[in-house]
Amino acid sequence: MARFKLLLLPGDGIGPEVMGEAMRVLAWIEKRGFASFAIEEDLVGGCAYDAHGKAISEATMQKALAADAVLFGAVGGPKWDKVPYEVRPEAGLLRLRKDLGLFANIRPAICYPALADASSLKRELVEGLDIVIVRELTGGVYFGEPKTITDLGNGQKRAIDTQVYDTYEIERIARVAFELAKKRRNKVTSMEKRNVMKTGVLWHEVVSQVHQREYKDVELEHMLADAGGMQLVRAPKQFDVIVTDNLFGDMLSDVAAMLTGSLGMLPSASLGEVDAKTKKRRALYEPVHGSAPDIAGKGLANPIAMIGSLGMALRYSFGLGDVADKIEQAVATVLAAGLRTADLRGSGTKTVGTREMSDAILAELERLQ
Ligand code: NAD
Repeated sequence: MARFKLLLLPGDGIGPEVMGEAMRVLAWIEKRGFASFAIEEDLVGGCAYDAHGKAISEATMQKALAADAVLFGAVGGPKWDKVPYEVRPEAGLLRLRKDLGLFANIRPAICYPALADASSLKRELVEGLDIVIVRELTGGVYFGEPKTITDLGNGQKRAIDTQVYDTYEIERIARVAFELAKKRRNKVTSMEKRNVMKTGVLWHEVVSQVHQREYKDVELEHMLADAGGMQLVRAPKQFDVIVTDNLFGDMLSDVAAMLTGSLGMLPSASLGEVDAKTKKRRALYEPVHGSAPDIAGKGLANPIAMIGSLGMALRYSFGLGDVADKIEQAVATVLAAGLRTADLRGSGTKTVGTREMSDAILAELERLQ
């Protein structure tokens, strides 16, 4: 049986609660003999700051570098709102993304039929929605230098963020999008702002070149990112794979999140380059949502985004796509039976807590077995 090294970083707020449920699914996978895991657990975010004075320790980074995959919960909360910028909880996640070279963030937005009425859009617009947003994750304005706030001495300050992209960064993210599209409906929509940004001009040029050179058989369309945002809420089913930069991807994927009903439903994967020798790639899997301080510790959090993130790890890191399919099927069945966590509440449904939701998913997995 294959054995994988997995590092769990539950983090803050509801992170540990939803991670606890993913661990029960991991235990089920082992019990059923699909794989075995060497699991380590460590601190990240606010809890790491409390313990070590920084959002992730060097020892934890070493464990992350040695793991086959990292499963991440969520970080942050009001307790750490005033800690210095460099050691704020999110710095732990940014460091992981940077040092593991996780340049491709993959966020599926799937609308389960049972949840079509929980979306802020009309049922007919979202029912059966199945799109993926591929967001560039290690470049662009979140990392570009200079990144400063300068006191101008006249009662004014000047803040600077810098958007930078090199050709190779655009090429590799475009390839991830085209490869994914080939396994789906064979269409990529590239979004940028070439009308006002130089990085947008280069993005458009490089994505077109990669398409011409390597992926002529995949349909490619270009869309300005603002128009793309509009189309995402007007007619989201027109898309298959959307590829975009770090900043636009951050926003557009949150818009896509609401199409599916709740942030509590959305998993994500962040992938690095494939190592030429080992054929493995570094990877981190996390729910799209944050630490939800408003419901933390109450047993109300929806565990499906976290369990779905484990599902993506099975698919992309462990070659266990069939087990990932089973998890998705179990989630769909449980939702169709009317079970809902508080974030998804609707008429004619039964509201359950975190534990009951994953109890039901595990029972369904057992039944499928
Ligand atoms: P959030 O995602 O934590 O919460 C937004 C809303 O969605 C809240 O009402 C919350 O209760 C609800 N929600 C989120 N996940 C849910 C789940 N699984 N089940 C049920 N309801 C859920 O975003 P926020 O409130 O803007 O941020 C809270 C904290 O999280 C901040 O400190 C922020 O910096 C941090 N944050 C962290 C990450 C991350 O760790 N990747 C991402 C976003 C925000």
